[in-house]
Amino acid sequence: MRIDLHTHSRASDGTQSPAELVQAAVDAGLDVLGLTDHDTAEGWAEAVEAAERTGLTLVRGMEVSTRLDGRGVHLLAYLPDPTHPGLDEHLRRVLEGRRSRVPAIVERLAAVGIDISEDDVARVNHHSAASGRPHVADALVAAGVVPDRATAFRDLLNPGRPAYVDRYAAPLREVVPVVADAGGVTVIAHAWGRRTDRFPDAETIAELADLGLTGLEVDHQDHPPQAREALRGIARDLDLVVTGSSDHHGLGKVDHELGCNTTAPEELERLLDAAARAARASGREVPEVVSP
Ligand code: AMP
Ligand code: FE
Ligand code: FE
Ligand code: ZN
Repeated sequence: MRIDLHTHSRASDGTQSPAELVQAAVDAGLDVLGLTDHDTAEGWAEAVEAAERTGLTLVRGMEVSTRLDGRGVHLLAYLPDPTHPGLDEHLRRVLEGRRSRVPAIVERLAAVGIDISEDDVARVNHHSAASGRPHVADALVAAGVVPDRATAFRDLLNPGRPAYVDRYAAPLREVVPVVADAGGVTVIAHAWGRRTDRFPDAETIAELADLGLTGLEVDHQDHPPQAREALRGIARDLDLVVTGSSDHHGLGKVDHELGCNTTAPEELERLLDAAARAARASGREVPEVVSP
């Protein structure tokens, strides 16, 4: 059983439509796919339809842009009711922050003599509400300014580069209980990312577990072996679910092929059990996973 719980479609910054992503997952030999676009459930309906057609098990999720002690943390939320008013309000604010950032980035690019318009960005973002720096990067590629997304980030869009603009992210300590109240479960994505200072530390993760955090994404391309082992130890001590995933973005990110990291079946089971408990505790119907 091959399980990949973190992937992106064109509903955010992936390069495949949700249906194409589902088909690619089948072709890659996956049995279970988590669709986790940034800050939106927009791709869910198309992915559900495609999964029902192909016999793939689909776990509906999203990757919420949050802030913890002044730093960005990506929080995977699985199976929440996206119409939950509290969750919807957080997502609405994040998406508005994404929208309002595009003109600011365009302005910074103009200041260094690079002429692309908001329309150029809109043209490559496939009507996603979750427009982001990857779409600006795609517009720069389309305009022949850079050869690929990675170069756009390195030279222009990363923090410290001329066109970097920050954006709003939702308070992590608020989002964790809101997702639970919406009948879902939360997992910190690429928990230590490429950071060398191992933030959030074990103590902070323990505090988040008390707030209702369910798991840590341990097996991820951004984590060297020592980080994985340390995170696995923290998860074991706190009884958190351990996941592994590709963070696939279609052609948008190299070295993140579908299934390059996977989640153990018993960990998925624990995750789904926790979601069922969250749903019951909040008086909601237990969310269904699409399965053949
Ligand atoms: P944003 O959410 O708009 O701030 O953009 C961050 C997103 O850009 C991340 O979720 C990644 O998917 C993507 N990203 C970050 N760095 C790179 C890179 N070097 N190459 C391709 N995509 C990247
Ligand atoms: Fe992304
Ligand atoms: Fe992420
Ligand atoms: Zn991601």
